[in-house]
Amino acid sequence: MRARPPSFGKFREVQAELERSGAAIFRDAEGAESLIIHYPYSINYIHSYAEDSPFFLGLAEGHLRGSRCRRPKCRFVFATPRGHCMVCGAPTEWLDLPTVGRVHSWTTCHFGSEAFLKETPYNLAMVEFDGVGSLLLVRLKEAVESDLYVGMPVQAVFEPNPKYSVTDVWFVPKR
Ligand SMILES: [Zn+2]
Repeated sequence: MRARPPSFGKFREVQAELERSGAAIFRDAEGAESLIIHYPYSINYIHSYAEDSPFFLGLAEGHLRGSRCRRPKCRFVFATPRGHCMVCGAPTEWLDLPTVGRVHSWTTCHFGSEAFLKETPYNLAMVEFDGVGSLLLVRLKEAVESDLYVGMPVQAVFEPNPKYSVTDVWFVPKR
C-alpha cells in the first residue's frame, strides 16, 4: 500500500512535493488537512476580447490604455477600461494612461491562481495616476512587502514577448 503523502504547513512546500511525487497534504493553521494532487488539465479556448481589444493590443505596444468619458461635462477617466462611463453612462473613448503612478494600497499574496503560483509570494497593488479617477489593480514586482508604502512611485513594465493577457504589464518601484 502506498504511504500517506507528506504533510506541509506552507503551500510552497506542497508545490515542491507535487513536483516530486504528485500528491501532498496541506495542513492549515488549525490543523485541518487537505489532500492536494497534481492534476494535468488542458483545453483549447477561443476567446474574443471584443471591445476590450485595444487594451491588450496596447500592452503589446507598450501603452497602458484607459478610457475617458466622451461627455464634455464629465470626462471621467477610468484606469480599468470601460465601454461606458460608470458616472454618467455616456460612451467612452480610449486614451493612454501615464506609465508612472503611485501605490494607493497593496496586498501580498501567498497563494494565487495557477498562472501566479510560481510567483508567490507576490504583491498586488492598486495604483493611482495623476488625472485618472479610478485605480488599476496590477502586480508589483521587484519589491518585498516591507519595501512598500502608500504613495510609493511606481512605473509600468511591459512584457517583451506579449501573450495578449493582463500579465503583459506589471509595475516596479520607479527607478
Ligand atoms: Zn461620464
